[in-house]
Amino acid sequence: MTDTSADCIFCRIVVGEVPADVVAETETSLAFRDLQPQAPTHVLVVPRRHVPDVGSLALASPEELADAVGLAARVAADEGLAGFRLVANTGAAAQQSVFHCHLHVVGGRDLTWPPG
Ligand code: AMP
Repeated sequence: MTDTSADCIFCRIVVGEVPADVVAETETSLAFRDLQPQAPTHVLVVPRRHVPDVGSLALASPEELADAVGLAARVAADEGLAGFRLVANTGAAAQQSVFHCHLHVVGGRDLTWPPG
């Protein structure tokens, strides 16, 4: 596998080894529902390429980062969201638990600030 990691759960979803509720995709990104949704809409958008976090994706491929953000916006529109939050937890100290870049698309309820 190129640019994938056999130990990575999101790589295994990307190649179809682990099932996921896929809602949209592009050539370079995949969108699927989070297993533990924190809102009525909670979708993860991941690059097919294995990189550990969003900053790494920006350095490796700005085009693929733009594609992922565009796919997130398309998912939000398809879900009929008036507004949504795009979250990229980066680093264990920020509660990142899966070290394959992902964007959380969260919406469908009142979203508060500071984040909640
Ligand atoms: P983070 O804590 O920002 O790294 O987010 C990782 C997210 O991945 C969490 O919200 C998990 O619920 C979600 N997650 C972990 N494994 C899976 C899976 N197999 N399918 C869908 N979502 C998952």
